[in-house]
Amino acid sequence: MAFSYWESTEWLEGNDLIVIGGGIVGLSAALQASVLKPHWKIAVIERDPFGGGGSTKNAGFACFGSLSELAHDRSVLGDKEAAVLLRKRIDGLKLLRHSLGDSSIGYRDCGSLELIRKGAGYEMPSMETISEVNAWAAETTGSMHTFHIAEEKELAGINSKMIEGAIASPLEGAIDTGKMMQALRFKAQKTGIRLLFGLNVTGWNQHTTNHQIEIERAGSLDVAERFAMKSPHVVIATNAFARELIPKCDVNPKENMVLVTEAIDHLNFDGTVHMDAGHLYARNIQNRMLIGGGRHWKLKNDTELEQKLKTLLNEAFPETLMANIEYKWTGVLGIGSTRMPIVSKLYERSVAAVKMGGMGVAIGMQLGKESIELLLSD
Ligand SMILES: Cc1cc2nc3c(=O)[nH]c(=O)nc-3n(C[C@H](O)[C@H](O)[C@H](O)COP(=O)(O)OP(=O)(O)OC[C@H]3O[C@@H](n4cnc5c(N)ncnc54)[C@H](O)[C@@H]3O)c2cc1C
Repeated sequence: MAFSYWESTEWLEGNDLIVIGGGIVGLSAALQASVLKPHWKIAVIERDPFGGGGSTKNAGFACFGSLSELAHDRSVLGDKEAAVLLRKRIDGLKLLRHSLGDSSIGYRDCGSLELIRKGAGYEMPSMETISEVNAWAAETTGSMHTFHIAEEKELAGINSKMIEGAIASPLEGAIDTGKMMQALRFKAQKTGIRLLFGLNVTGWNQHTTNHQIEIERAGSLDVAERFAMKSPHVVIATNAFARELIPKCDVNPKENMVLVTEAIDHLNFDGTVHMDAGHLYARNIQNRMLIGGGRHWKLKNDTELEQKLKTLLNEAFPETLMANIEYKWTGVLGIGSTRMPIVSKLYERSVAAVKMGGMGVAIGMQLGKESIELLLSD
């Protein structure tokens, strides 16, 4: 296969940095590099035509963790490391909102609720526990009231008979995921970053001067075309798919289903909800309801999962009872043994920024930034 002179010189040759993966982390890394190294030629290689794995399939929670999730982080990581992780989420959210602007990402300051479902095996935390978590989180969130017990008026549209109680956080919000990714791509292109979609990286050879990236693209007549690109600097931001290029890293792909209803007249519920320690989530998208998750149920197949999610949606939000599901999709999370993401050097001038877990919207830009700081720290 031969590339034209124009294709070669404009996109394929002479890149100072190649980022593999065009999700929130990869694009943020490319943007950060363009700020710190304005003369660099930067390419982002992405195999998906929409340019996103989890980044275009997520539920749009701008969240840093429900009280139960933070308690889990503290028990696994210890208080100090869990605070570092919380800081990354808070900083990432600030960076996202500041860099792209609230209206460009459809940000809504709607707060969040954690519902403690009756019979689901989760305990309603005591006032003492909530105060203790608030005291631990205060330095990072900047508020002594990160969480409080939800009042009746905060539960509009929710079937309160199915819950032991609810914890509210006024500090979380929601975004429009499509708008966010479009804004990121727009910013990257405006900055001169080359976005090369539809190219699958099949391998990379580390080299002291120029890393070689092996690439495959679907050619005409369904024949895959193979070629290579070279770059002295590489960032791998392939999240859930990281093991394809870094076989030993601590990232496992985990599928997550999302359902969205048709439009509902006069929907009262407005906000975001976590359930079952973050394994389940629901929100409204204007006058529709979204529900997702349920991995912890360990069901036999997707049909059972879809049914159970739909039943829970109807039970928790009675206004959805007559609404059909209009959109259904599955995305892939990058999960590891802890929720701490990986930003680490692989070889000279190459860095991996992967394992974003279920809060990559919050943490993604921060991790993209950190990956470039690490790359340039040689
Ligand atoms: C269903 C679902 C709901 C979620 N909801 C939320 C939420 O509400 N809030 C939140 O904060 N987080 C949520 N998340 C998590 C969040 O979306 C991710 O953590 C985040 O998007 C990860 O961003 P990323 O850039 O690291 O990875 P990705 O967006 O997955 O980007 C990696 C990219 O690399 C590309 N790629 C992989 N391998 C190759 C290769 N070999 N060659 C070329 N390209 C390659 C993939 O196509 C992909 O586009 C959700 C995730 C899912 C799946």
